[in-house]
Amino acid sequence: MIKGLDHIGVAVKDLDASLRLWQDILGLEASEVETLEEEGLKIAHLQLPGGVSLELVAPLSSRSVIAKFIAKKGEGLHHLCFEVEDIQRLGKELEQKGKSFLPGYPRHGSRQTIIAFLHPQAWSGVLVEVMEKKEK
Ligand code: ZN
Repeated sequence: MIKGLDHIGVAVKDLDASLRLWQDILGLEASEVETLEEEGLKIAHLQLPGGVSLELVAPLSSRSVIAKFIAKKGEGLHHLCFEVEDIQRLGKELEQKGKSFLPGYPRHGSRQTIIAFLHPQAWSGVLVEVMEKKEK
C-alpha cells in the first residue's frame, strides 16, 4: 500500500529566505519554485540523499491554509507525505476501515502527482499526505 516516505512538509513564512537557509547552510539542492494559485501556496523541494525531500510550503496570502497554520502554530513541521501505489484503491480501503481522505481529495498536486490528505485527528496528530505519481 505505502511505497515509502516521499517528503516532509515544512510550513515557512518566506520561501526565498528559507530556501537560502537550507541551501547555503546545509548545501541542499532546490527544485524550481512552483506556485499553486488555487491552493494559495508556493512550494519548493530540497532533495535529500536517499530519495526523501523537504517540501518548503509558503502562503501566497493570509487566506491560505498555510498562513492559518503558521498563525496558529508558527513555522515548522507541517505534514508527512507517503508515496502510494494506487490512491483511489487506498481511498476505498480506508473507507472500509472507517477512515477517509479530507473532503475534496484526491486531486492534482505539484510535480505531476495525485494527492490526498488524511485528517491529523485520526492519525495521532500528524497531517498525512498520500501521493501517487502519474508518471511511473
Ligand atoms: Zn506535501
